[in-house]
Amino acid sequence: MQKEQNDNLIMYFDRTHECPNVFLMENKIQTIGIIGGGQLGMMMTEAAHQLGFKVIVLDPTAACPCSFVADEMIVAQYDDDERVGELCHKSDVITYEFENVPFTSVKKWKEQYNIPQGEMPLYLSQHRVIEKQAAESSGAVVGAYCAVNNNDELQKGIKKLVYPVVLKTCSGGYDGKGQVVLRDDSNMEKAMQLVGHKECILEKFIPFDCEISVIVNRSIHGELTTLPITKNIHKDNILFMSIAPAPVSETVIEKATTMAINMMQSLNFVGTLAIEMFVVNEDVLFNEMAPRPHNSGHYSIEGCLTSQFEQHIRAIAGMPLGKTDLLQPTIMVNYLGQHITGIKELMTSGLPNMCIHDYHKAIAAHNRKMGHVTFCNYSQEEVEEFVESYWK
Ligand code: AMP
Repeated sequence: MQKEQNDNLIMYFDRTHECPNVFLMENKIQTIGIIGGGQLGMMMTEAAHQLGFKVIVLDPTAACPCSFVADEMIVAQYDDDERVGELCHKSDVITYEFENVPFTSVKKWKEQYNIPQGEMPLYLSQHRVIEKQAAESSGAVVGAYCAVNNNDELQKGIKKLVYPVVLKTCSGGYDGKGQVVLRDDSNMEKAMQLVGHKECILEKFIPFDCEISVIVNRSIHGELTTLPITKNIHKDNILFMSIAPAPVSETVIEKATTMAINMMQSLNFVGTLAIEMFVVNEDVLFNEMAPRPHNSGHYSIEGCLTSQFEQHIRAIAGMPLGKTDLLQPTIMVNYLGQHITGIKELMTSGLPNMCIHDYHKAIAAHNRKMGHVTFCNYSQEEVEEFVESYWK
């Protein structure tokens, strides 16, 4: 008996054996494949391990954040069909941790392998105009916008929308890259350069009161949950702080949650959808979406009964979804390459109710996300004081 128990224990931790978890065996899902090995993949892997799954990750960089936690790494480019095929072949279910995986590739792989999210979430979120049209079609309120692909269309767009406006590239932009705010003609040269190189979208500048996000998860069986809404504060267009619960009215929460649920259902998505929104008075406007766990949902690891990462794994593996109740007021703050010295001090500060998540990145470049800190049961003012002391 003792021997048997020991064998079971050995089996459980030795991932070259089949996993004895009863749920996993019944569902025939034991290995999860992740395309992309960044911090989102790393936290997905940690959640998957907690549930008993084995994880294989494909990423072009050998020392990516996932390499520190994955059971197996496949180091290859995302368009390397042979190696992606290897990942899919070895995995029972495949997901992606970023939205720039070519949707045409996923469409092709889907025919042969189990990729429950499919290519649609990627197709819709890889192009800002298509994304906004999809949001509108599901009933979301979207600020005024128009597609602009040359200087003539830019000038017509400015006349139609009226300053101030924001010009953004339709694809490839993140953290404010590929964006120009136009309040008058003074930034026109920069705008003309952008529009001359890439397909663009021109948006009416929204004088928002605050930015919020909703993370919604939907399982392959159609079960759906949302995470408590966060208020998000950006610095230099990079997410700096997410506050849960978001200090907004019940009406705003109701509108934002309804928008997220309607989008997830009408677009028939599976997995995770993060939707960023602008709040203007009591109105909620769609800004953009990401079909994956999102930086503004990192707070849920400590803040909620089930984190966005665990919920994502549950959703794609066909498990029942967990409850997402907020356990305590939680604030997440990102730290960037330039903050590393102060964060080392914070690590040894002994400050209670604080968790540090380091992403294991070797190069601490300026403005590169290196990790995040979660503060539980502190007010925004208290967290701002910590930031003042340690983010240096
Ligand atoms: P995005 O990449 O679209 O999320 O834009 C990055 C940030 O720029 C947002 O989080 C907002 O703070 C700001 N922003 C983007 N679009 C607009 C807009 N139409 N009006 C006002 N601010 C915007």
